[in-house]
Amino acid sequence: MTTVSAYAALSPKAPLERTTIERRTVGESDVLIAIEYSGICHSDIHQARNGWGEGIFPMVPGHEIAGVVEEVGAGVTKFKVGDRVGVGCMVDSCRECEACRTGFEQHCAQGNVQTYNGVGRDGEPTYGGYSTHVVVDEAFTLRIPDGLSLDVAAPLLCAGITTYSPLKHWGAGPGKKVAVVGLGGLGHMGVKIAHALGAEVTVLSQSLRKREDGLRLGADHYYATSDEQTFKDLAGSFDLILSTVSAPLGYDAYLALLKTNGVLANVGAPEEPVSLSLFSLIGGNKQLAGSMIGGIAETQEMLDFCAEHELGAEIELIEAGQVNEAYERVTNSDVRYRFVIDTSTI
Ligand code: NAP
Ligand code: ZN
Ligand code: ZN
Repeated sequence: MTTVSAYAALSPKAPLERTTIERRTVGESDVLIAIEYSGICHSDIHQARNGWGEGIFPMVPGHEIAGVVEEVGAGVTKFKVGDRVGVGCMVDSCRECEACRTGFEQHCAQGNVQTYNGVGRDGEPTYGGYSTHVVVDEAFTLRIPDGLSLDVAAPLLCAGITTYSPLKHWGAGPGKKVAVVGLGGLGHMGVKIAHALGAEVTVLSQSLRKREDGLRLGADHYYATSDEQTFKDLAGSFDLILSTVSAPLGYDAYLALLKTNGVLANVGAPEEPVSLSLFSLIGGNKQLAGSMIGGIAETQEMLDFCAEHELGAEIELIEAGQVNEAYERVTNSDVRYRFVIDTSTI
């Protein structure tokens, strides 16, 4: 075991503070990663505030990790010391069930081992990226291509894959009209990726405050959902709507924006349940779907795609001491467009 510095929530109501945690000794198939950057996902806030329930405290959040390999176990074949690597939302799974065997480790029948707020297969709690080092099995470690700098690559490990996977799955591409709801961490990557895939992209944001940014990121159109006229103008417009909203949404209004056979893919994970009228689905053969991150192979595919298209995240780099302030700002939809912790300040 090695003692390393970290930022933790000691309880759901406590601000995050500096602490120390133990990292396991590097095992046969492990890599020790010196973390350089760690993104702040809204899921960190949901969990650190115990909004989803059953949180394990103290909690060291962070599942958008980018760094450099410092040590490798004797059996490691994919990585060597000095490699630029990333870790996303999971660090292990059973590797034997149908989901694991087919590249959907996130849906492992035994549950994936979350990067933090989880329990490893060794029975120990997992601690995330708001920390200086992490030990991860090489099978759950991603390669960050040379074309991406580590700071803007970090958010891809969650925000990138969470938007790439449903956009690919539901066919975002040339000739397709795609709307992205919410221009935050996930949303801004959704816009960039959907644009790079060749789709016609519309942002549906609460206001027009971030319109210029949205268009610069690759959107063709930008509408405010606070304006009732938006829902009249865009009725029946989209093949695919990707909702990244962290709060409960009035789904009936958004389903009405789909074309016949359109899909509303939701990745937002609000803390309260939502309700909708099933008639919103029946009329128009519409689908309401969910999507959770992506498997390991698809995450590598996404990183390679983002490097090829020069798609890093738009980030605000902060010191670890600013993390509580950053949480406030994300909660208030005041993020442009991902906070990333410089972990040398931990
Ligand atoms: P974020 O940066 O806070 O972005 C969420 C955006 O949603 C905000 O920027 C805002 O965009 C919009 N929004 C917030 N409150 C709203 C409200 N009351 N009504 C309408 N729009 C609202 O968060 P994030 O990190 O992108 O994460 C978004 C959600 O996805 C979170 O719930 C997170 O837990 C979840 N998530 C899910 C997965 C998965 O695998 N499915 C993975 C990662 C994260 P505008 O200002 O443009 O309106
Ligand atoms: Zn996340
Ligand atoms: Zn499994």
